Amino acid sequence: MRRCGPAVWRGRNAGSTSEMIHSTLRQRCPLIQLDSMLSVNLRHAQHTNVLRQHGLSIRRRSGLVVRALDAVQPFDDENRLRLRSENRKLLSIGIIGFGNFGQFLAKHFVAQGHNVIATSRGDYTKAARDLGVIFFEDADDFCEEHPDVVIVCTSILSTETTLKKFPLQRLKRNTLFCDVLSVKQFPKQLFQQLLPPDFDILCLHPMFGPDSGKHGWKDLPLVFDKVRIGSEPARAERCANLLGIFEAAGCRMVEMSCEEHDRQAASSQFITHTVGRMLGTMELTETSISTKGFDSLLSLVDNTYNDSFELYYGLFMYNKNATAELSKLEFALTKVKSELFDRLHERIRNDIFD
Ligand code: NAP
Repeated sequence: MRRCGPAVWRGRNAGSTSEMIHSTLRQRCPLIQLDSMLSVNLRHAQHTNVLRQHGLSIRRRSGLVVRALDAVQPFDDENRLRLRSENRKLLSIGIIGFGNFGQFLAKHFVAQGHNVIATSRGDYTKAARDLGVIFFEDADDFCEEHPDVVIVCTSILSTETTLKKFPLQRLKRNTLFCDVLSVKQFPKQLFQQLLPPDFDILCLHPMFGPDSGKHGWKDLPLVFDKVRIGSEPARAERCANLLGIFEAAGCRMVEMSCEEHDRQAASSQFITHTVGRMLGTMELTETSISTKGFDSLLSLVDNTYNDSFELYYGLFMYNKNATAELSKLEFALTKVKSELFDRLHERIRNDIFD
């Protein structure tokens, strides 16, 4: 027997079969994807505000499960059951900034059974629908969904302006607010300055992206700093549940202060990007006698040179340790160059004065 889910439908469709619910939703809720995947529809249907706008509502009753013989099993049902058996609560997660990285995260959150909504400067309705995410063009509508967790996935450079005009007051009073910016001290300070005191703050940096994480997140580092998590058990549990998504995917969990992250990232990530950019600017190309070392330089160029200059500039401008690392790199090149030229000069002088 296939399960429809624990929702009890009310309104004009009360008592109808899943097919009737489907057809009414199709007419009245264009935001809800109504394809053959009943699962997506039912998960989307949990977003009661959207349903309410269309004259529908759902009510949950513990212990009462409506079972429909003709309903298709939700595609993420196994994940939901697994999470339930592991005593982990499914979260509603709101993503601000639905570009490359926002979508990459959303895909994994949905795959683990969480409800995901998103908003962005541009319109990503279709991309969101394809991922099983509800997209809100209007930030007010997004906030009124009252997600448990909000994750800022905007570019480093646009984060401050985006946040300053975001209707934070419409979110739930004790929302867990996170970011995934590739610099950490800056969003931490920004959140502390701008967010209401009741919000929890968790700063995250998945040290991987759509390329390096395309075959899974196993052993890839997730840096996190619990900047401000309220003392109530429910708040600690919500934070643990969010981190649990990365743990469940096999990430290497690294708890580190935002300040320490930026110190280490300036000498690793920023230098990697700088060297990749320098080599890219040299327009290196494959040769018929390429060594393995040279191949890794080319792959470094591939992994960094295609990122937007905006991202690179963000790594520089918003990490106060970056300037010192850039100077060290410059100094190192000068030193290596002078070792070469000193030896050359010495030989020539020896020849001259012999
Ligand atoms: P990105 O170019 O850094 O950011 C793109 C996002 O920023 C889009 O959602 C875009 O919204 C938004 N945005 C850009 N300019 C904006 C503006 N002026 N006003 C409002 N929104 C603006 O590319 P990304 O790779 O998706 O990265 C997103 C975040 O994740 C960054 O903070 C980055 O540091 C972090 N991160 C990225 C990776 C990675 O591998 N890509 C890894 C770890 C962390 P619209 O598209 O709607 O315009």
